[in-house]
Order: sequence, then C-alpha cells, then structure tokens
Amino acid sequence: MKEMFDLRGKVAIITGCNTGLGQGMALALAEAGADIVGINRSNPTETALLIEKTGRKFHSVIADMSKMETTDLVIKEAVSAFGKVDILVNNAGIIRRNDAIDFTEKDWDEVMDVNLKTLFFMSQTFAKQVMKQGSAGNIINIASMLSYQGGIRVPSYTSSKSGVLGLTKALANEWAQHGINVNAIAPGYMETNNTQALRADENRSSEILGRIPAGRWGTPSDMAGPIVFLASEASRYVHGYTIAVDGGWLAR
Ligand code: NAD
Repeated sequence: MKEMFDLRGKVAIITGCNTGLGQGMALALAEAGADIVGINRSNPTETALLIEKTGRKFHSVIADMSKMETTDLVIKEAVSAFGKVDILVNNAGIIRRNDAIDFTEKDWDEVMDVNLKTLFFMSQTFAKQVMKQGSAGNIINIASMLSYQGGIRVPSYTSSKSGVLGLTKALANEWAQHGINVNAIAPGYMETNNTQALRADENRSSEILGRIPAGRWGTPSDMAGPIVFLASEASRYVHGYTIAVDGGWLAR
C-alpha cells in the first residue's frame, strides 16, 4: 500500500511555494519522495532549506505567474534541471477585496490572470510536455470554498475559483485518455497571508470559526495527505474531482 503513495523518482512543479499552502504542499511532496521545482517571484529560501532537509532536490525558478508567457520558461527550466516533469500543482493565487459596486477592472484582471488564465496555460504547456514524454502526469489545481459559494466583496476571486472547478473537469475530460489526472483541492479557511485580513477582523473571524465543525482554522500541513494522494498512483482512477479540505465547512 505504501508504494501507491511513493513519489520517489517523480518531479513536481509547484507555483507559489515561498509561503502558506504552497510551502506546505511542496514539503509534503518532497517528504513523499519527489524532487521539487518551485516557481516564485523571489527566491524561496525557507522552502528550499525545508526541502533539502528531506534529502530531495529543490530547483528554484523566478517567474511571474500573472504572465502566461512564463509557462514555457517554467517547463524548459524544469526539464533542463531534472530531465522531465510528472506533477504540476497550480497553487499561486491572489485575492482583492472591495464592494462589487466599486470593483475596478484592474482588480478584476489581476486576479483572473493569476488564478485562472495562467493556470490554464500552465496546465496546457505541462500536458504537452507529458504527452511528448509519453508518460503519465498529475495536475492538481488549488480551488477554494468560493468555487462553491459566492463570498462577500471578492467578485473576481469567486469568479476565478469557480472557473478553476469547472476547468478541472473540462481538462480531465480531454486528458484522462492521455494518462493525465486533473483534479483539484478546495481548501477551507486556512491560516496564511491570504486570510490575514479576515482573521484580523474580529466579527468575521468568529463568524467563520463558529461554522467550522472541526473548530479551528486549517494549516498548510492539513494539505499534506490530500496533495500526496492526488499526485500519486493511489488516485489513478480519480479524474476531474475537487476535494474539499475544509474542516467540514461545506457540510454545514
Ligand atoms: P499566500 O498569499 O500565502 O500564497 C500565495 C502564493 O502565490 C505565494 O507563494 C505568492 O508568492 C504566490 N503568487 C501570487 N501571485 C504570484 C505571481 N504573479 N507569480 C508567482 N507567484 C505568485 O496564500 P495561500 O493561502 O497559501 O494561497 C495559496 C492558494 O490557496 C491560492 O491559490 C489561494 O487562493 C488558495 N486558497 C487559500 C485559502 C486560505 O484560506 N488561505 C483558501 C482557499 C484557497
């Protein structure tokens, strides 16, 4: 059974792993045996150290995931560092908060570009490489509770993450036949920079906590089991599915 979750010999690309959920997932994939290619706008020193401690290799690529041209560079760098790619985690994401009535085009475009447009073209470039290799591949997109719900004052974020859920199914339909599993994880309310404003707002924070059956905010380490499952042989017949890692939030 352990072998099904074993990622030794695999190469995993993860976007946005200098902090938060990306760092937690990069570490989990390395602990399961994968070498890691991390894509960030600045050098992720802490993540690199954590991964090297596991005995796995870490290759850093400095790139901006708001630009779809980045996707070619990422795959080329990964292949030149490790010779191939096996796993892609589309984690980089941003959020902008404002009333819908005042929401600007800039806050719309910036969020859609990173969270949805580049995620699609990154997946496309990765899939072309995997098909060229003639090997299997695993794509894991990071969705959100706002893939299911509307949220408040985050219209571009909700639109992008609802798009991620649909796109995960669309890509699975086309690429399952090529041995590529496309799935997603929808994290609940997790303690990272992304939720700092929410946690600082006493009312919103206690409202949120009161609805989580597990009785606590999630942490990056709560992503470890689900990401290794979706990156491994253990999920080989799982296609187009989004797993909520939310302490039971959606069950309420
Ligand atoms: P975070 O802000 O700590 O991390 C976001 C990551 O994306 C960082 O590494 C950041 O550097 C990277 N990033 C953003 N824009 C980038 C760009 N243009 N180029 C390269 N990298 C870029 O937040 P997080 O909570 O760890 O978020 C990770 C993912 O999880 C995001 O997609 C987020 O939407 C999603 N998510 C988070 C929560 C939560 O509660 N924290 C809940 C649901 C979904």
